[in-house]
Amino acid sequence: MSAHALVAGAGPAGAALAYLLASRGVRVTLFERQTDFAREFRGEVLLPGGLDALGQMGLDEAMRSVPSVDFRAIRIFRDGRQLFTVDIADADFGGALPRIVSQPAMLEMLVAQAARHEGFTLLRGATVRDLLRDGDRVCGLRVQLAGGEREFRGDCVIGADGRASLLRRRAGLRQAGQPQRFDIVWFKVPLPHEFAERPHVRGYIGRGHLLLAFPSYDGLLQAAWVIDKGAFGELRRLGIDAWVAEMANHVSPDLAAHLRAHVEEIHHPFLLDVICDRVERWSVPGLLVLGDAAHPMSPVGAQGINVALRDAIVAANHLVPVLAPGAPAAEAFDAAAQRIERERLPEVAEIQRLQQGPPRVLFQRAWWSGIALRVLPWLLRLDVLRGRGGVVFRRFAFGVTDVKLVI
Ligand SMILES: Cc1cc2nc3c(=O)[nH]c(=O)nc-3n(C[C@H](O)[C@H](O)[C@H](O)COP(=O)(O)OP(=O)(O)OC[C@H]3O[C@@H](n4cnc5c(N)ncnc54)[C@H](O)[C@@H]3O)c2cc1C
Repeated sequence: MSAHALVAGAGPAGAALAYLLASRGVRVTLFERQTDFAREFRGEVLLPGGLDALGQMGLDEAMRSVPSVDFRAIRIFRDGRQLFTVDIADADFGGALPRIVSQPAMLEMLVAQAARHEGFTLLRGATVRDLLRDGDRVCGLRVQLAGGEREFRGDCVIGADGRASLLRRRAGLRQAGQPQRFDIVWFKVPLPHEFAERPHVRGYIGRGHLLLAFPSYDGLLQAAWVIDKGAFGELRRLGIDAWVAEMANHVSPDLAAHLRAHVEEIHHPFLLDVICDRVERWSVPGLLVLGDAAHPMSPVGAQGINVALRDAIVAANHLVPVLAPGAPAAEAFDAAAQRIERERLPEVAEIQRLQQGPPRVLFQRAWWSGIALRVLPWLLRLDVLRGRGGVVFRRFAFGVTDVKLVI
C-alpha cells in the first residue's frame, strides 16, 4: 500500500494535488469545510499558465464541461475616456487566451476526476480544527464532521486551506507580510449588450481608483472596484446609491448609465480584504502548506488560481515518489517538502514583487504619480504587444519558472 496523505482544503491547490496523487496510486483523504463550493465567493480568471497546468494534468477535455468565457481584448480607459484597446491575439501568447471560469464547477470537476481513482476520499462539511502530533511531528488532523469531531492519522499532512489557513497558524509558521494599500469590492450586475457581443475586459484607471469589468461565465457582468484600504465601511454607511454614484463618476458614460439603471440588482457586494504575504518556511516535520496557505496572493494580475495549480504540479512531482508503496515516507516527505518550497519560492516571490507595482502608482499621493499614471497604460500596452519574455504581462500570463509535470 502507498502512504496516506491528508489534504486540508479543496480549493485549486488541494483539489489539484489530491487528484494528481490519487491518479498516481497514492491514498488521499481530502477535507473540505464547505458542502457546496458555490457557497464561497471564488476567483474566476484563469490565465494561460493555469490553463497549461490543467492541460498537463490531462484535464483539457474535462475543462470543456466547466462554464466559461474567453476574452480577446482589454480596453483601457483613463478618467472615463477610452485610451486604447489591446487585442490579446496580437500578443505573442501562442494563441492562449485568458478564460473566465466558474471556479465551483472547476473544483467539482477536479474532485470528480480524483474520485475515479481508488484510494481517494473526499469529506465535505469537514472542518479541520487542529493538528495531531507525535512528538514534534505532525501526524494527523482533528476534524469537525456533521456527527462530531474525529481524529484522522496519516503519513503526511498538506495544508491547502487558503489565505486564513488554520494549519499554518497551528504549525506556528510565521509570515512576512507586505502591507497593502487597497481593498476590492466585487459585485455582479446584468451584462451590458456590448460585453455580450464582444467579450472584453475594461480597466478604468484614475488616480486613487480603478474599476475592472468583464463578462462572467454566468451571463452577468463581474466588476471589481479597487478602493483605499479600509474605505468600504464609510462607503457602506453612505448606502449603495451613493457608492454606485461614486463609481459612476470614474467610468465611461455607457457603463455609468448601466450601473445607475441596475443599482437595485447589485446584491451582496463582497469586500476582499487584500493581503499579500508568505510564510518564512513552508513546512514542519509531517506538514507542508501550499497555495494561499503558504503565500496569499494579491489580486493584482489575477494570479492566485494559476499559482496554486502550479504549486500542485511541483508538489506532486516531489511527493509521488516518496509516498509510493514501499518508499520511506516520513523523512523522505520532509526532504521533499523542502525541495517543493525551494522550487516554488522564486516564482512566488517574483510574482508578489511585480504585484506591488500597479497599486504603488495608483494609490501614491506624490506629485509624480499623476505623470506615472499617464505613462503607465502606454507602457503596459507596449509590454503586451511586444510579448517579450521577462516583462510584466508575460510573467503574469505564464508564470516565471518552468513548471512541468514529470510523474
Ligand atoms: C474574491 C476573490 C477573487 C479572486 N479572484 C481571482 C482571480 O480572478 N484569479 C485568480 O487567479 N485568483 C483569484 N483569487 C485568488 C484565488 O482564488 C486564490 O489565490 C486561490 O483560490 C488559492 O487557492 P488555494 O487552493 O490555495 O486556496 P482557496 O481557493 O482559498 O481554497 C482553500 C479551501 O480550503 C477550504 N478550507 C479553509 N479552511 C478549512 C478548514 N479549516 N478545514 C477544511 N477546509 C478548509 C476552503 O473552504 C477552500 O475551499 C481571488 C480570491 C478571492 C478571495
